[in-house]
Order: sequence, then structure tokens, then C-alpha cells
Amino acid sequence: MQYSTSQGDYIMGEEPYLLTPGPLTTAASTKAAMLKDWGSWDGDFKAVTAEIRARLVAMCEGGDAYDCVPMQGSGTFAVEAALSSFIPKDGKALVLMNGAYGKRAGKILEYIGRDFVSLDKGDYLPPMPEEIDEILKNDKAITHVLAVHCETSSGILNPLKGISDVTMKHGRKLIVDSMSAFGAVPVTVDEIPFEALVSSANKCIEGVPGFGFVLAKKSALEASKGNCHSLSLDLYDQWIYMNTSGQWRFTPPTHTVVAFLEALRLHEAEGGVAGRLKRYSQNRDTLVGGMKEMGFVPLLDEMWLSPIITTFFSPDDEKFDFTRFYDEIKSRGFIIYPGKLTEAESFRIGFIGALDKSVMEGVLKAIAESCAAMGVTNFAPPAGVK
Ligand SMILES: *Cc1c(COP(=O)(O)O)cnc(C)c1O
Repeated sequence: MQYSTSQGDYIMGEEPYLLTPGPLTTAASTKAAMLKDWGSWDGDFKAVTAEIRARLVAMCEGGDAYDCVPMQGSGTFAVEAALSSFIPKDGKALVLMNGAYGKRAGKILEYIGRDFVSLDKGDYLPPMPEEIDEILKNDKAITHVLAVHCETSSGILNPLKGISDVTMKHGRKLIVDSMSAFGAVPVTVDEIPFEALVSSANKCIEGVPGFGFVLAKKSALEASKGNCHSLSLDLYDQWIYMNTSGQWRFTPPTHTVVAFLEALRLHEAEGGVAGRLKRYSQNRDTLVGGMKEMGFVPLLDEMWLSPIITTFFSPDDEKFDFTRFYDEIKSRGFIIYPGKLTEAESFRIGFIGALDKSVMEGVLKAIAESCAAMGVTNFAPPAGVK
């Protein structure tokens, strides 16, 4: 497929691969699903919305006890909707932080005026169940625990099962930001009986950006009436309206929604969560193995490496320059992601999206060539960072 746009000619399959954790590279049929205009009130579109909600509830094995409420906007809008709708005005949260997204959740709570404490582990250490146990034991006012499943800023896969177990042991409620993991890392309500879990269209389900969604206990949705400070982010209102009319309360991102249904069908055809996990794990193993062979050093120890994204330390070589590195790799057909560590120079490579092992092998080749073009020969990080 080829056509001209004001940004130049578009040739399907010729744009660079996005090695970024969303927006990401999508399948051709997902893109093609957006070539039709839809009326948001139309029965056909309502059926799309209903099917998406049902498929997402099924993905976490939520049965009759859980429901799915989509929310317009990027993933953060859905996180803000969940925090403000589920944590009552007199509630108190424990926010588990080890990177940018945990910190952002804390910032949201400041904005919306909810009381919270945080367990901040810095850039890349996991919040451990024993630490959470101690905090919950000593602070009976905490009503909710907020956990980030995969902290995308470092790529760490946090120990969600342990976090969930200790939260349940103390009778508190769990809210999970599984934005960058849901759909590729198994989460079932049987194992992780969360109150609410948030994710979005443009991560592991491989849709395009435009909305997020909240999977939540129906009992939590029922109890959330009147909690939210915001009209547009009120999940209760969105839920009731959607259930009674079949429509989104305000204009939905129609093209994104139909593309997402196509992405969900591809997800199912790949073998669901297990199939996706397998491909992403293979992507990770290929990429991380090849990078280590070249001499690059990943930030995290093996056991914490998510199948989503990995952080590598930038080489100490004085010829290494991230901007040039990025441009060299881009000219070879791949877009990588800058790092987000506060203490050491780093960059990130994502494994999610319509990418497979052969793409990862292409990235490795592009990285080797880019380093050669720059004259970089020493791939190790500065002494002392790891
Ligand atoms: C992507 C992401 C978000 C949401 O980010 P947006 O830019 O608002 O879509 C939230 N949490 C995590 C862990 C993420 O990876």
C-alpha cells in the first residue's frame, strides 16, 4: 500500500520499526482497520465496544465479578480516572515506586488531594513484599496499595504476586498499573484479586494510541459513585452510561477503537497472553544475548528483566554520543528509546509490538554498524555504575 501525505509518501512496511514501549509498531491489518469512519452512536460501533470490553474481562478471567471500562486519552488519563474513582476522599494509598510511573501516580494523588505514603526504591530496585508487610502492619489507615507491574522506565518486572498476597493478607485493596504488561504477562483475578487494573490500547495488545481501560471489580465500580473530582474522568459515570446506552459518554476515538478490536483478534490468533509472552520473551533473549556478546551491560540482573523493555548502560567510550547513536540506528530502520535513569547514562530497547526475532537480529546488526560508524570500540559502562 502506498499513498501520499503532507509528510511525504507513505509506503506500508517501509517506516522504521519502533523499539519503544508504545506507541509501537502495529500489524498491517490493525492499521488498515482505521481506514473507515464510524458513527459513535451506531449499532455496529456499539457492538465493537461491547466486544472489546468482554474480551478484556476474559483476558484476566474476570468472569461476572469484573467489568471493563474504557477511558478516552492516553494511559495516564485512565490511571488518574482509576485513582480518583476508586480511592475515596477519606482513603489513603501506599504507592510503590521504582521509577517514573510510580512517581507519576504519586503526583496524581497530590493533584487530586488523596492522602498517600510511598515506598520509593529509587531507579531500579523492586518493592519487596516484606517491606510492604511492615508498612501495612504499622499503618492501618492505608486503604489501597498501588503497584506498577512492569516499571517501563527501567524495564523491571515487579513481583506482583508477592505484592498482591501481602496486600490481601492485610485486607487492603490493590490497584495495578499494568499498562506495559497486560496482554503479555499473565494476570488473572484468581491469582491477583485486584480491585482495579489499568492498561491502554497501545502497549502489549498492539493497538494504536487513543484510550486506556480499567478492569475492575463490579463491587468497586458500584462503590465508586461520587468519588471522582472530575466529570470527564469519572469511571462510575462512564460505566453506568456505557452499560445503559452501549455508548461512550463523550466522543470516543473511533478509529483507535476499531483498530484495537483487530489487534485483540490478532492477539487471540497468536495464542493469547501465552503466545504473546513467548514471542516477546524470544525477542528479549535474542536482543539481550546479542548485546551482551558485543559487550553492552544491561541495568538489571537476569531475574528482573521484563519481556517488555530493557535498559542498557551507555558505553564509556568517549566517541559514544546518544544523539548520533540514535540517528545512526534510525537511518538503518529502527527507532530506539532514551534512558530514564537519574544516575547513569543509558538507553532502552523495547521488545513489544509487531516485531519478532528476525527484527531483533536486524537491530543488533544496526547497533554494531552504528557503533563502528562512530568509532566506538569500548561498550562497557563507566567503572562503578555496575
Ligand atoms: C505507558 C505507561 C503509562 C501511561 O503513559 P501514557 O504516556 O499516558 O500513555 C503508565 N504506566 C506505565 C507503567 C506505562 O508504561
